Order: sequence, then structure tokens, then C-alpha cells
Amino acid sequence: MTTPHAIDVRNLHKSFGDNHVLKGIDFTIDPGQVVCVIGPSGSGKSTLLRCVNMLERPTEGKVFVEGVELTDPDVDIDAVRRRIGMVFQQFNLFPHMTALQNVMISQQRVLKRSKKEAEIIARENLDKVGVGAKCAARPAELSGGQQQRVAIARALAMNPDLMLFDEPTSALDPELVGDVLMVMRKLAEEGMTMMVVTHEMGFAREVADRVVFMDGGVIVEEGTPAQVIGDPQHERTRAFLRRVL
Ligand code: ADP
Ligand code: MG
Repeated sequence: MTTPHAIDVRNLHKSFGDNHVLKGIDFTIDPGQVVCVIGPSGSGKSTLLRCVNMLERPTEGKVFVEGVELTDPDVDIDAVRRRIGMVFQQFNLFPHMTALQNVMISQQRVLKRSKKEAEIIARENLDKVGVGAKCAARPAELSGGQQQRVAIARALAMNPDLMLFDEPTSALDPELVGDVLMVMRKLAEEGMTMMVVTHEMGFAREVADRVVFMDGGVIVEEGTPAQVIGDPQHERTRAFLRRVL
């Protein structure tokens, strides 16, 4: 038996009312691959990411994660979603909880880990992303970069097989972007499967195995960073890159 793709999206369409946002997306990510999705605002990048873990229901098409069809009405979505970590632009930490509690809560509630085990795993992951010294701090006492790293630790503590990132550095002050990208780079080097929506072309160039350029709800082109960023074939890609580079 061949290993299934980590993510396999086939002819994916998504409409919100009359707004046909995704117009037939096909792509795959293999285990251990890092794919960066780039494209102008409003092109459907977030919607695509949200369809991969069914935060949005596709209007048409199929989504498979590790060979399991999420668009099958009988599938246990929660069981599959547990294998997928998600990191958003807005960190979505609980403001009244400490960093440590933020990383413990889903482990206890969803994975039913004991408090002691959840705490050990939370500390390991906070250390890993470089905020181990901030366990007792609440989100308001942390910089944006520290908050985003706590959010990454929270996702990692659930032992995901793959991670989805939606513009994880877009809400950060420029001087804090590097710390978060460094954590993501380390994860990539460790072999994590990652789908990253980003405007950080340096990161995409250096870390991505593949870059996907979306515009108007379709994939306009995809390939290696050298192909898509270094030698784009489509005028729409060139126009976008001129604006962001
Ligand atoms: P991107 O992430 O590339 O900026 P989005 O996927 O956020 O693009 O949005 C693409 C289009 O889908 C936009 O026109 C947006 O208004 C619309 N859209 C996204 N989410 C929703 C929603 N929950 N309800 C209605 N329209 C939405
Ligand atoms: Mg978006």
C-alpha cells in the first residue's frame, strides 16, 4: 500500500451565497512537505485553509487528510481534526489564562491527559518555541511574537501530524516576525508537514518545498520557490510579486 497524501484536495469549490470564492482547487501535500500559499488579499487563501480542516464546508469537491475523506458526511471530523494543528493571524489565546494554562487546556479537555502530564508537555513545548520563561504570564503581558509562539506551542502539544498556518506573522510588529519564522523553520527542519499562507517571501523561498500562487479563487501556478518566486510564468504572479517583494 502506498502512503496517502497528508492533504489531498480535489476540485474544491466554496461559495458564500452568490460569492463563488474557490473555483476548483486541486492540490496535494505529502508527509513532511512544506507548502506556502501566496496571493493577493481576497483570493481565497484563508477559505482554502479553513476547508482543509472543515472550519468551512466545501460547496463541492473532496478533501482527504491522511487518506480519510473529510467531505464524507459519515466521517468523524473531530477525530481527524485532532491530527491537524492550526495557527491563526490573531493568536486566539484565552486572555484570562496563563501561557501554561493556554497550552494545557485542550490537552486535558480533548485528549483527556492528566493535569500533570499536560503540564509536562506544555512546558516542553513552551521551551521548544523559546517562551519557557513566560509560563506564568497572561497574554496581555506578552509581546505579539511571544503570544504567537504560545499559540504554536498550544498546537504542538496536541501532537498534530500536520500544521496549518494562516498568515501567522501578519499581525506582528516587524521586529517580532523573525522569532516566529525561526520557530516555523525549525518545525519544518524536524519534518513537520506544513501548509503556510504567508506574505513572507523570504521564508517561502528558503523553507517551502513548493509554492502555490492563488488569485481569484484558482491556483494560477505552483512549483518550487525558484520557479514561482524566482521565475514566474504568469503575468498575475509577476504583478503580485512586484507588489510584495
Ligand atoms: P484571503 O485569505 O486570500 O484574503 P479569504 O479566503 O479570506 O481570502 O476571502 C475570500 C473571499 O471570501 C472574500 O471575498 C471574503 O469576503 C469571502 N469570505 C470569506 N469568509 C467568508 C464568510 N465566512 N462569509 C462570507 N464571505 C466570506
Ligand atoms: Mg486570509
